[in-house]
Formats: sequence, C-alpha cells, structure tokens
Amino acid sequence: MDQRDGWIWYNGEMVPWKDAKLHVLTHGLHYASSVFEGQRAYGGEVFKLREHTERLIFSGKTLDFTIPYSADEIDEACRQVLAKNNLVDAYMRPVAWRGSETLSVPARDNKVHLAIAAWVWPSYFSTEERLKGIRLCWADWKRPSPETIPCKAKAAGLYMICTLSKHAAMDKGYADALMLDYRGYVAEATGANVFFVKGKDITTPLPDCFLDGITRRTLIGLAKANGYTVTERHIKPEELAEFDECFLTGTAAEVTPVSEVGEYKFTPADACRTLVEAYMSEVQPKQAAAE
Ligand code: PMP
Repeated sequence: MDQRDGWIWYNGEMVPWKDAKLHVLTHGLHYASSVFEGQRAYGGEVFKLREHTERLIFSGKTLDFTIPYSADEIDEACRQVLAKNNLVDAYMRPVAWRGSETLSVPARDNKVHLAIAAWVWPSYFSTEERLKGIRLCWADWKRPSPETIPCKAKAAGLYMICTLSKHAAMDKGYADALMLDYRGYVAEATGANVFFVKGKDITTPLPDCFLDGITRRTLIGLAKANGYTVTERHIKPEELAEFDECFLTGTAAEVTPVSEVGEYKFTPADACRTLVEAYMSEVQPKQAAAE
C-alpha cells in the first residue's frame, strides 16, 4: 500500500503517497490512540460524507482527543483528495492519531494528526456474483462489553480481534467470520453488520456493543421503504435456523448476501436482490432537481 503513486492529504498538505510517513515512536502505533473512517465516493461524491466526518470527530473525542480540524474542513479535504487524485469512484480512509512527542501512556499534549487517502477499490462483486452469497464461519473471539471498550468509536484498537477472526476464517476457506458478543448473542462480521430475513420480516442485532454502521442505518431505511419490517433485537445463534436469507452491510462490503454461517445455510433471494439493487441506486449522487 505504501508504494503507490498519488497524493495523501496529511495535516493540511498534499503529500506524495510514498512520503506520507510517521515516526516509529508514534503513540497511536504503540497504544492504539488512533481512529479512522472508511467511506466510498460514487460518481465523484462521498456517500454520507458528513456522517462519516462526524463519526470520525466523535471517535477521536471518545479516545479523549480533539481532531484539530472542523467538520467543514475535513469534508473539504476529502473532496480535495478525490480531485487531486482524479478519482470518481473510490474508497477513502481518513485516519487520526496521537503523535510521537512522548511515548508514555498519558499523552494529552501529543499532537493529533490527520491524514486522508483515497484509492480505487471497486465493489467486491456484480449483483449476480453477490447473489451467490459468501460463506462465513463463527469467530472464536467475542465482541467485548461496552464497559470494557469504547464500542461506539471506530477505533484502531477494536480491530485487533477482527483481524484475528478474519485470518482464522480465511485459513479455513471462509470469506469472513461472524462474531458473537460477550453475552453470546450474534453481533457482526469483522468489518460489516449483519441482517437476517424471513419473508417480509428483517431482523438485525441491536447495536449495543458494536458499530451501528452508516450502511446499516441506510439499509434499515431502504428495507422499510421496500415494504419490509425491521426489528433490532438480541439474536441467539441457534435462531439462525429460522431465517431464509442473510446479508452483510458496510461501506466496503456494501450489501453482500451470505449463503452460510457455520452450520446454518441461506439462499439469497428476493430480499437480497431488492436490497442490493436499492443500495446501489441509493449511493449514486442525486441529480439536482430539474428547474
Ligand atoms: N462493523 C465494523 C467492525 C466495521 O469495521 C464496519 C465498517 N466500517 C461496519 C460495522 C459497518 O460500518 P459502516 O456501514 O459505517 O461502514
């Protein structure tokens, strides 16, 4: 990733991609004082840009630091990154972290840095390809309690168990892993939220100990607009036997149907097709109303 061509916005400057470096004694590297966003641009516009920017600022505050740019400035920097790199459809990664002034655990006076990169990361699959569904296994790691970690922040430290779970899934030939939470309820995949379908009823875990994704919230609105009921509640793993369809949602994953979670099988059908198409239509920039 570090040897590409292009430009990265780094503390207010456009820096050549290969030069966007930091020091090995960075607090964010040692103690995970780092927060980030994943957002996608479609047709030249970042989908729900302000919501991502607000979540980034909120995540920093949750980790006890203030990103030294306003939401307007961050939005504008994101647009500049797209323009400078001539990108129209792209994945974007804003990241903020505490710097290297001191390496002690308390580091209130360390500078807070912000960098924003963007690159082409096409949708994983075409609609037809997606509708085959991906295979998930159960993760060995559990989402911790909100009393153990700041679970609403999109914070680097929370991804340690995601990487471990995803590696273990890939080693066993699965695309991803579905994690339970500390109580044993179904939580989320390693970088995406999960939904289950039975007829016109959609059920999704209550996001009380994991990220309430921006795609998740968008999908709930789209599902209701398409005649589905949506219930957010705790789901026990054995309840998966009662559902017909399953899909993941996330900025990178978009809407990705699932064909298998461990011992439970699903057949992507009407709900998956409807919602994949509704989401891909929703993310396109809205044309200005005709005059
Ligand atoms: N959960 C985790 C752990 C994630 O990394 C993501 C991706 N950001 C999501 C859920 C989905 O969030 P969003 O829809 O905001 O991308």
